[in-house]
Parts: sequence; structure tokens; C-alpha cells
Amino acid sequence: MNEVQKPKKPLIFYYGIVLLVLLLFNFLAMPWLAQRQVQYVDYGTFLEMAENQDLGQVEVQQQENQILFTNKDNTAIYKTGMMPDPDLTQRLNDSGAKFSAEIIEQADPLLSILLTWVLPIVIFVAIGQWMYKRMMKNAGGPNAMMFGKSNAKVYVQSSEGINFSDVAGEDEAKENLWEIVDYLHNPNKYKEIGASMPKGILLVGPPGTGKTMLAKAVAGEANVPFFSMSGSEFVEMFVGMGASKVRDLFKQAKEKAPCIVFIDEIDAIGKKRDGQIGGNDEREQTLNQLLTEMDGFEENTGVIILAATNRPESLDPALTRPGRFDRRVPVELPDLKGREEILKVHAKKIRLDDSIDFGKIARMASGASGAELANIINEAALRAVRDGRRLVTQSDLEESIEVVIAGYQKKNAILTDAEKKIVAYHEVGHALVAAKQTNSAPVQKITIVPRTSGALGYTMQVDEGNHYLMSQEELENKIATLTGGRAAEELIFHSASTGASNDIEQATKLARAMVTQYGMSKDFDMVALETVNNQYLGGDASLACSADTQTEIDKQVVALVKKQHEKASKILEENRQKLDQIAQYLYEKETITGEEFMQILNQE
Ligand code: ADP
Repeated sequence: MNEVQKPKKPLIFYYGIVLLVLLLFNFLAMPWLAQRQVQYVDYGTFLEMAENQDLGQVEVQQQENQILFTNKDNTAIYKTGMMPDPDLTQRLNDSGAKFSAEIIEQADPLLSILLTWVLPIVIFVAIGQWMYKRMMKNAGGPNAMMFGKSNAKVYVQSSEGINFSDVAGEDEAKENLWEIVDYLHNPNKYKEIGASMPKGILLVGPPGTGKTMLAKAVAGEANVPFFSMSGSEFVEMFVGMGASKVRDLFKQAKEKAPCIVFIDEIDAIGKKRDGQIGGNDEREQTLNQLLTEMDGFEENTGVIILAATNRPESLDPALTRPGRFDRRVPVELPDLKGREEILKVHAKKIRLDDSIDFGKIARMASGASGAELANIINEAALRAVRDGRRLVTQSDLEESIEVVIAGYQKKNAILTDAEKKIVAYHEVGHALVAAKQTNSAPVQKITIVPRTSGALGYTMQVDEGNHYLMSQEELENKIATLTGGRAAEELIFHSASTGASNDIEQATKLARAMVTQYGMSKDFDMVALETVNNQYLGGDASLACSADTQTEIDKQVVALVKKQHEKASKILEENRQKLDQIAQYLYEKETITGEEFMQILNQE
């Protein structure tokens, strides 16, 4: 699938050229053309022509000290210098010439009209035509002369088009979309029984999970044209333009049916219409047009609309009702198996060593999206090239996970000895608290090599397989683990450092969610005190309770974190010797794996 766009010059550029040509014409060409008519001759020629009665009109310009005259047929203008000639008037009289005041203007009125009026218009029209042709050629890009034309990119089917096999994992989404493909292949099967296809399908999920890819794959599998446009491209500077773009898009789509129209980031136009003063008129008009268009085309026309968004909750209910986007396909972050499959799909493009363990990489990259996994593979390939190797190895992949998650190693960031010690204790503090609570290896690996993301140390958690529910105890343990780093610093150095800021943020967020969303505090029972706004974009929550309750929530959150902090301190105190031992190991080696960690911990 390919799409080529030429860089375009702004319209003002063309207007500038036209203006410049006209100015040059007026200042240079006009006087030159006018001047060109006049021929210089000597006084003798003038006298001769007068004598032979060959003169037409004569204008004596005293001030310029010259004489302008024409021949008998007025087809040519001549000029000559004045001589002291007392008989001049008599001579002219005898020659039968006419005395005239404005010889040049009268010389050829038709020519001067042509020069001053017709020629500029001709030039203007010619340049206009040329510009129009250029724009026609470039059609498809944003263009001020193409107001209201949708600039949807059409992906024409090609042999390298994306298919379902290129999208790994996401089996439920694929199953759901397979029906659409089947319908596009075989509409009669559905029509016979009276079933109608959904008009619109909404793909929802976090960024980078393959929504765009899935939409392209549907088009690829069904072998139909694919129109793609981003929601924000509808919103123009001028009110009404977005609406006319929607109209145009649907017109094109109906002409090309069966086809797929894909609107990415539909929340840009599909936000709830809240009727607030100062609301975005343009967006609302565009949305209204979209709603009308979706109602307008009959079922089974073969135009299927796919749209993607990360913020389904912000969409206007009119858009998501049955009859418009009546089907919602969740495209979630991949699970362990999905991650492994995605890694394998992308690994096909690169040369790999035989010993790659994709399962391990997938476990290490817990929580990564498809886009991140693709990036991990690419980073590994780049690393292999950098090191002058011809194959990508397991360690390239492991290192690139850390690069994608925590940034590159900071080669020349030298921690002081004291700092390194603090970081080692901090990281081991987390891991030890976690290990003692669950009695299993809590980490894949800990390193205390500074990273470009700003992290001084880095702990790679173990992914315990797919986990859909968490108990209150597990959540509390997690908070205790998060406070473990600071607890270790307090225990050993009797002071606090800034290194725990991220832990504090996460622990607070968890504790708050336990109180306000999960109903895990006795006082509030099962009352929702917060609503989550952006489920797929970080999950910001807004409070929905009175000021008094807020104060109480804050108290409970503090108490919860404090209790877990104390628990962590107690665990570390009881295992002080192990803490020292492992921290010393990490301090010396800078990296410790999960197995080494457990080995030291379990030594008698
Ligand atoms: P979204 O539209 O959900 O933000 P995209 O579809 O644009 O994400 O995906 C971005 C990139 O991530 C793709 O080009 C692809 O390389 C990779 N990717 C994401 N999900 C998958 C998947 N399930 N299988 C293979 N590659 C994927």
C-alpha cells in the first residue's frame, strides 16, 4: 500500500508570482513596447520628408527640444532633435502636415489598448489556468483552492497489502472483523437471510495496539479500496468546511463501493456535544454531517466505516447508538501469548540467531503494546549493526527492552560511590520486600546503570502470566513493595533521598484507587467516589464526592500507605543481613538477575 504526497507550496507563492510578472510588465515591458515604436532620425531626414510632403502628424516638443512626427500613413513614429530653424512653421505648413499635441497616444489607439488592458488580462488568465492544472495534478493534499474536498488517502490494493496474518494476537478483534470481510466477499449470503451488516465499527483501545493495522487488514483481506482519514483532518479553519469534507468523503466512498472508510482518532470530531457557550461550532457541524451521512446510506450498500479511538467514553451517544457505530471492538494490550506472537511477526523481517527465546522476551516486556514490541525488535537489529554483527542475538533483544522502557545507558553519567550505594540499597529494598511477601522471585533483573530516562536504577518485574483480578492483599503488598526502596534507605542511611518520587506517586495512586474505586475501605463501603475518565490513556480519575468526604479519603489513603511502609520497614529489619549482602553484590556487579537474587536470599 503506498501513498505519495508531494510537498506543496502555499497559495500566496503563486499570487506573488502573478503580481511580480504584472509589475515587471508594467515597469519594463510597457515603456519599452511604447518606445519601440519611435525611430530616431536626423534632422536632414525630417527636412527631406517635409519637402517630399511625406509627413503625417507633427508635434513640436519645445521643452524636450525635440520633434515627434509620423509618416503619411501614420504607421511609424519618428523623432528628431530641434535645430534653430526660423522657417520651421512655414516649412511644416507647406508640407501639409497636421499639427498634433499627443502623437504617441494617437499613433495607434488599438495598440495601446491592447498593451494596457488586454495583455495583462491574458497573462493573468494564462497563469490562473496553469495554477489550476498544477492543483488538479496535486489533488489529494490540503489545498486552499480545494475547500471542502475530502483529502482522504486511498490505499490501492497491492501485493504487499496488510492481511490478518500480519496482525498478531488480537484474536477476538480479528474474529469480529472477519465477518465484515466475509460480507464484503459474499454479500448475498447475508442479504438472502435478511441480515444487514453493521454500518460502523468502532475499534477502541490504548495507543499502538494495532487498530489502524486491523482496519487496513480488513481492506486487505476483502480486497476492496480503503479510504483513510484522521478525525482532525476534518476540522478546518472555516466553519462548514469539515461538513463538506464529510459529504465529499461519503460521495467518493459510495462511488467506489464496496469499500472501507477508516476514520482514525474519531474523538477529534465525535466528542459529546455539550452545548457550552464558546463550543466548537465547526466540530459540531462536522459531527452532525457525519451522523446524517451515516443515516443516509442504506444498509448493504457495501460501504463499511471503521473508526478508531482511545477515548470511547468521550464520544457523543448519538454516534455510538445502533444504526451508526453499532459495534464496538476492543483492541486491548496484548497478553503474554499475544506479545510472543507479535514479536515473532516482526522478527520475520530481521536476521536472527537460532537461540532466541521469544517466550522470555515476551515475559520481560510485560505491559508493552504492539507498537512498542515492534520498536524493541528494531532497536535490537540496530544494536546488532552498531556492534558490527550480522545476526541479532538474545542479549540484543533483552537490552533493547530496557532501552525502550528506560532509555539508553548513560555511558558517562558517573554516580558517586555514596549515590551508587543508595541506589543499590533502594532497588534491593523493593525486591526484598516483594520476595518476602510472595516467596517467589519478584524480579527478572535489577541494574544500577543510569538510563537516559533519568532512572538511576532499574528493576524489571516478573510477569506472573495473565492477571485479571487483584485481591486487596495483593494490592497492599504492592504498595509495601513500592515503599520498600525508601524503607531500605531509612534503615541503612537514616535519611531520605529524592529517588523515591516515582514510587510515591504510584503507591498513592494505588491506595487512592483502593479507597475510591474498588470499595476496599470499611467506612465508604461500596460507593464510587471517583470516576475514571481516560481508561486507555493513563486512567485519570476525577472525584465525585463532597469536600468532607475528600478530607476523609485523604486520611484513609495516608493511613493505608503508612501501614504498608511500616510493614516494609519491618520486613527489611528482619532481613537486614540479606539486604546488606544482596546490595553489596549489586553494588559490585551493577546487575543482578532474578535467579542470582533468589540464590543469595535462600543461602543459609
Ligand atoms: P493504533 O492505531 O492502535 O495506535 P497501529 O495500528 O498504528 O496502532 O500500530 C502501530 C504499529 O505497531 C504497527 O505499525 C505495527 O508495527 C505495530 N503493531 C501494533 N499491534 C500489532 C499487532 N497486533 N501485530 C503486529 N504488529 C502490531
